[in-house]
Amino acid sequence: MSQPSAELVALVDQLASEHHLDDEGYRALLANRSPELAELLAEKAVEAREPIYGKKVFVRGLIEISNICKNDCLYCGIRRSNTNVERYRLEPDTIVDCAREGWELGFRTIVLQGGEDAYYADEVLGDVVRRICESCPDTAVTLSMGERNRESYQHLFDAGASRYLLRHETANPEHYARLHPATMSWEHRMQCLRDLREVGFQVGAGFMVGSPFQTMEHLVQELRFVEDFKPDMCGIGPFIPHHDTPFRDEPAGTLDMTLYLLSLIRLIYPNVLLPATTALGTIDPRGREKGMLAGANVVMPNLSPVAVRKQYELYDNKICTGEESAQCKGCLGLRMNLIGYEISVDRGDIRK
Ligand code: SAH
Repeated sequence: MSQPSAELVALVDQLASEHHLDDEGYRALLANRSPELAELLAEKAVEAREPIYGKKVFVRGLIEISNICKNDCLYCGIRRSNTNVERYRLEPDTIVDCAREGWELGFRTIVLQGGEDAYYADEVLGDVVRRICESCPDTAVTLSMGERNRESYQHLFDAGASRYLLRHETANPEHYARLHPATMSWEHRMQCLRDLREVGFQVGAGFMVGSPFQTMEHLVQELRFVEDFKPDMCGIGPFIPHHDTPFRDEPAGTLDMTLYLLSLIRLIYPNVLLPATTALGTIDPRGREKGMLAGANVVMPNLSPVAVRKQYELYDNKICTGEESAQCKGCLGLRMNLIGYEISVDRGDIRK
């Protein structure tokens, strides 16, 4: 056991009260990570979350609408060049039925996520959004359908979607270039985030922890990005290799580093919506519970039809691909109750 130095404790206190550190400060906290410092940060993170969200956990029902994708992200199992994937696309009627089933289970946020599938052009996707809004009262429709142009985002917002998740993946342009093919750019991804915000969406950004080539300096930049951009939501989860990608032999990100970053992000922006991701639950059987105890306040159970769940395999060994939606919700509810948390059925908008 080594207690954190007085300097490190002072940095944690400063972060907890001012929600800001200079790069040197973030660097010191990241470089001197220890179980004891992690515990202190987690304690402060829970304390910062307490007056805003308490022990309430917001649930988002996730429907994975298509694994067809024009992109070729090097880390992703459904990248275009992976010919071993059995491709699928849910029809609009199926998606609306799935959303309604979620609504009946008590979900008041429905997330539609998918690859960049040309079938889901503005008219088609907008129509699905409109139909979900009609059949699911008081529900926030969230989209996570990749990069589109501003007019497209406006169209989807006008159709009734109110949130959009688009992880920036890394705050460093050179690092971005090593994770993506040359056809994709960090600048465009960032432009999309700005467009989404200007259109009026609540915006979710985020990055993978321990993605190939990620350095400590990149993590300093991640924290700077959260401080500056203040995304309404920040999805972070460990990178997990997929056997049919160029990164198949790369090591996965770690539980401890992910929890540490969750705590830091909560302290930088106490109001942020912070999911304990499926990837976190995949690398550790109690990953999502540990995420809550480190400062997270959102979980995203799977609402996709069981028949297609295994095909939306972004990384190896993804959990919850065998259960029905009701089982997933029940399981998560129990898991949260066991650590003294409670699932909340409201829309779960950011409180600020
Ligand atoms: N096409 C949408 C949805 C992408 S899937 C979009 O571009 O936003 C959602 C997230 O899964 C990605 O943003 C990425 O951060 C994460 N992901 C993809 N492959 C992963 C892997 N191998 N390990 C961990 N997370 C991964």
